Amino acid sequence: MGIQTDLIWFDGKLVPWNEAQVHVMTHTLHYGVGVFEGIRAYKTVNGGSAVFRLKEHVDRLFGSAKIVGMTIPYSQDEIVTAILDTLKANKLAEGYIRPLAFIGTGQAMGVHPGKNPIQVAIAVWPWGAYLGAEALEKGIRICTSSYTRHHVNVMMTKAKACGNYVNSVLAKTEAIADGYDEALLLDPTGFVSEGSGENVFIVKKGIIKTPPLTSILAGITRDSLIAVARDLGYEVVEQLFTRDEVYVSDEAFFSGTAAEITPIRELDRRVVGAGKAGPVTKRLQTEFFKVVKGENPKYAAWLDGYSL
Ligand code: PMP
Repeated sequence: MGIQTDLIWFDGKLVPWNEAQVHVMTHTLHYGVGVFEGIRAYKTVNGGSAVFRLKEHVDRLFGSAKIVGMTIPYSQDEIVTAILDTLKANKLAEGYIRPLAFIGTGQAMGVHPGKNPIQVAIAVWPWGAYLGAEALEKGIRICTSSYTRHHVNVMMTKAKACGNYVNSVLAKTEAIADGYDEALLLDPTGFVSEGSGENVFIVKKGIIKTPPLTSILAGITRDSLIAVARDLGYEVVEQLFTRDEVYVSDEAFFSGTAAEITPIRELDRRVVGAGKAGPVTKRLQTEFFKVVKGENPKYAAWLDGYSL
């Protein structure tokens, strides 16, 4: 599945893939201040498609921009419409959506963004399971990263900002080079924070635990799962925990738009629980896929439907 589709929404209009280009003097390319989102659309049971929690993702995009001091020259409604238009124009019934707002060029160079224009692009492409279809089923092997997740006063951790991902790329690359599927990063005080592109959960004696919104990205899948799990009657706590608490947990899993709900079967060569997707993980995964596919009317408000 390639990432090349027909059209990309670029600064207000749909342009052919090859024309969505930037200059090498683009400010964001040099200094990393840009913001983006990762959103998914799924085919739904009624024969159409729906974007999952589109408005929340667009709201987070604007929040990220505010945090890093960028003014996106469109309204949230305009970006919502542009995303749906881009999906339809590319005849994409299911896939991944990547809005990106960045600082362009033409005015000045240097750390201060100055009066360089803020540009926006929206790409969509087909994307299956981020960590592989087998991972969703059997779980993945992960390691504690040698890289620490950002301190809240070094990077703005609530912003999904381009530059924040240097840390993620370092951790992911190291994990893959060492033979693991993904990295688990600790916060600057040593507690578990998140994966390179996922939030993390553990389960012990039926109680679901996830780190609080301190050094982590406020994941929309995380938020959805907390709501769904509580509705199913599970106790969910947002509490700091250590890596050895993961070692002795009954189950562990990652959540994210790309990763969806991916079971963790091993951390630092210690088998977690039974070494496969546990019952709570499986139940949440099943419920999550029902929700995104429109099979659970209770969460219909989370879906923005469209048809091709
Ligand atoms: N943490 C990080 C660092 C991420 O990049 C992501 C993916 N956006 C997440 C958590 C999960 O967030 P979401 O569920 O909104 O995709």
